[in-house]
Amino acid sequence: MAEALLRQQLVAVARRMNASGINQGTSGNLSVRIPGGLLITPSSLPYDQMQPEDLVALDLAGEPLAAALASAPGAPARRPSSEWRLHADILASRPEIEAVLHCHSIHATALACHGRDIPPFHYMTAVAGGNRIHCAPYATFGTAELSQLAVAALGDRLACLLAQHGQVALGRSLEQALRIAIEVETLAQMYLQALQLGEPPLLSEEQMAAVHHQFRTLLYGAPPAPPAG
Ligand SMILES: [Zn+2]
Repeated sequence: MAEALLRQQLVAVARRMNASGINQGTSGNLSVRIPGGLLITPSSLPYDQMQPEDLVALDLAGEPLAAALASAPGAPARRPSSEWRLHADILASRPEIEAVLHCHSIHATALACHGRDIPPFHYMTAVAGGNRIHCAPYATFGTAELSQLAVAALGDRLACLLAQHGQVALGRSLEQALRIAIEVETLAQMYLQALQLGEPPLLSEEQMAAVHHQFRTLLYGAPPAPPAG
């Protein structure tokens, strides 16, 4: 897809992330893969003021992409999100992924403040591609340590929590990353509510295998379609 179109889509999805209620202030950030690197939301710019030319193009080592600079003449020099490394390292380790969303949605973050995974208490936990949405241990924001812990917690799944921090959601499109992030927040809210009556019973491996099978066959066509595609 042409970079100009991806820039427009990224701004539109960033605004929908805000409208959905999962973003707090300017803490959320969003990226999409482009040839040679990624486009990412800039640091400290409210989404309602953000324009496609404000997005920052980086290679996966964090260096500005010269081709992208040439394609957006006259654009103000924005600094990338302080979490650019998290986005770049995930995109580098997951070639099938096109988009990364990070936010501090309230319920997912509340669970992450206790270092809790989201276990298979509800069948929709499978939406992230596994039986459990893992919580990565705490590390300082913006560091390589954090992105390494996030990559490990993600494994081959589409979401994880970050202890004392927030959540990360991935997609084969910006649209899918937003849908996964909203679903993770909803699951976290349900789990916190269910915990009011004590630890809820969990679905078995067998029951979750049946859910993954239904996702593949009923909702998204025959395998190898993505579980949440
Ligand atoms: Zn954050």
